[in-house]
Formats: sequence, structure tokens, C-alpha cells
Amino acid sequence: MDATTPGGNPVVPTHARTAPVDPTPTGVASADVRPVDPTPADPTPADPTPPDPGRVGWAVGVDVGGTKVLAALLAADGTVVATHRVPTVPGPDGLVAAVRTCVEVLTAEQGLAVAALSGVGVGVPGVVDPVTGTVEHAVNVGVERPFALAAAVAAALGGRVPVRVENDLNAAVVGAAHTVDAHPAPRDLAFLALGTGVAAGLLLDGTLRRGARRAAGEVGHLTLVPDGLACGCGQRGCVEQYASGSAVQAAWPATDGRPAPVALFAAAAAGDPHAVAVRDRFAWAVAGAVRILVLTCDVDHVVLGGGVSGVGEPLLDAVRVELARETAVSPFLASLRLAERVHLAPRDVPVGAVGAALVGRGEVV
Ligand SMILES: [Zn+2]
Repeated sequence: MDATTPGGNPVVPTHARTAPVDPTPTGVASADVRPVDPTPADPTPADPTPPDPGRVGWAVGVDVGGTKVLAALLAADGTVVATHRVPTVPGPDGLVAAVRTCVEVLTAEQGLAVAALSGVGVGVPGVVDPVTGTVEHAVNVGVERPFALAAAVAAALGGRVPVRVENDLNAAVVGAAHTVDAHPAPRDLAFLALGTGVAAGLLLDGTLRRGARRAAGEVGHLTLVPDGLACGCGQRGCVEQYASGSAVQAAWPATDGRPAPVALFAAAAAGDPHAVAVRDRFAWAVAGAVRILVLTCDVDHVVLGGGVSGVGEPLLDAVRVELARETAVSPFLASLRLAERVHLAPRDVPVGAVGAALVGRGEVV
């Protein structure tokens, strides 16, 4: 990715960003910020090891999910040096312990002191205040009431490194922008997560769009089918009821151990007419979410991620077919070149963890 992002873009794509960040900017938890959480601080004294000049700009990003915690060590040039994965242990203590383990394992593997990191970033599926580093309503990871995660992690790491926290989809869209093969780096990009639910992270004009109530990108609860399927949000016909992994599971229950979307697309490819109909309905719904994102935000890229994206190219092909079907009857939509804007999240790069690392070293505001 090109590092020559136009001026003013706070999401700096990595290559040239080697200067250490301010260790205690506003909203960043470190030892001199009073931890709100009672998690005890690591009694280990501050690491006296001076940063290795060759490692300045390295950061760890941690992507917290409902079943696993995936971390990546990012070098100054933005490449992933190593990853580490641990199971999710729900609750504040489990979350802090998991992040600490990931940071300590990744740094130890490289002979790197924790204090040598430019930062640690954590992406969490919940409502996150990036200024205070507080997380709430992170139901899938057992954190419902406000919890000062950044301060607790900073304390657990002995106050040796700045820690920043971000919503997981916001971290993912930052990571996705980092991995899209575009020059210059994209400033308008959506990361559309197709998992248990459907939601998007938004990077607009090079800045994260969090929203006034931190609900920006909740496209899963826009109505796609009037009077359609009942949704947990209380509405009917939401995008999420048709374009999520859960929707695929409901329409095509997997019986052979494979993920339902993989089984569905395989059956459709084999010519099963019912599978073809279910696949096309699903792809139509995903295409609807893409259309919504482009028409509301004019994002240049919509990156498909989440569990369903594991289907790979057949998913992308099916969505593009549906977009082409729509644009065939609308010169306006055709002019927007919707199909060209859709991509798959890279399989070999953990975009959520990479984005969290970029958050961690202060490249996101
Ligand atoms: Zn809904």
C-alpha cells in the first residue's frame, strides 16, 4: 500500500510511519492514567530495556471475538510479523488476561520488550469510547456494564506501553484499508461484516465514522423486505435476516460439519436448484447491503468480511452477478460501477488485528 495518503488523513497507511507516538496522548491508557477497573497492576517494575531503534513503530493489535482472541504483531512497515490466538474467556478479567497473554507471547517470540512497542490496540465487539478506553454492551465477550478496558490492559502490562481500544468493526475497516491494493490508499471504504449479524465499519474521508450514538454502519437493520422476516431488533425484513451467516444457516442448515455458507455454495455449484435459489437470494441481500453503503456513503471499496466471507470467490461472484442484475435496469446504478467496488477481505491477513495494531500505535483518531 502506498504511504502517500493525502494530507489530513489520520489513518496513515504505515510504511513511512516509523516515529514513535506520544506515549500518553488524550484517551490513551498508561500507568499514569488512573485505572478505573480493580484489575491489579502487574508488580513487575517498568521494563528498563530501551527500545531497539530497529523496532520503533512496532505494535500489537488484538481482535476480540466471541470465540477467539486473535492478535498480530505489526512491524513499522505495516507487515504482520507473527500472530497468536487464544480462546475467548468471557468477562472483564478473561479479556484482560487474553490481551496480556497475546502481547507477552508475541513480543517474547521476537525477543522484543513490551516497552519497545509503540502501542497496543484492542478491537472489541461492543460500544467503545475510544477517548476513555471504556467498553460496554459487549455481550458476546461478557462485558455488559462500562469497563475501562484500556486502563486495565495498560495496568496488566505494567504501564509500559500505551493502550487504545476501538470497536471491532472500526478496527477492521482500518485494517481493510491497509490491505486493499489501491494507490493511493483508500479514504472511503466500508468493511461489511457478514457473520451472525450484519454491520459495517466505515472509513469516510480517511476518518472513522463512529456516529453520534456510535451506531454508524448498522446497515443490518435497514429494511430490505417490507413485512419480511421478524428481526431481533423488533423490526421486520431487516437486511440481517437475509444477508447474515445466521440467515444462511436457517435457510440451508449444514449437516456435514462444514459451515452452512460453504455447504450452500458447494451445493449450488453442483447444480442443486434449491441451493441455487437460496444462494441467489442470499447474494441478492448482500448486494442490497452493498448498494446501501455505496448510495449513502459513496465508498470506493466495500470489503466483504466476517465468517461468510470464508466462502471466497464464489461469494464475490454471486454478489457481483446480483449487482449486475440490478444495474442492468438502471443507468444510474450502472454509472456507479457497484460490482467493481466489492472485494473480499484477504484470507491471509487478519484485518481486525492489523487494524487494532494501527489503532494501538495512534494512527487512527
Ligand atoms: Zn433488525
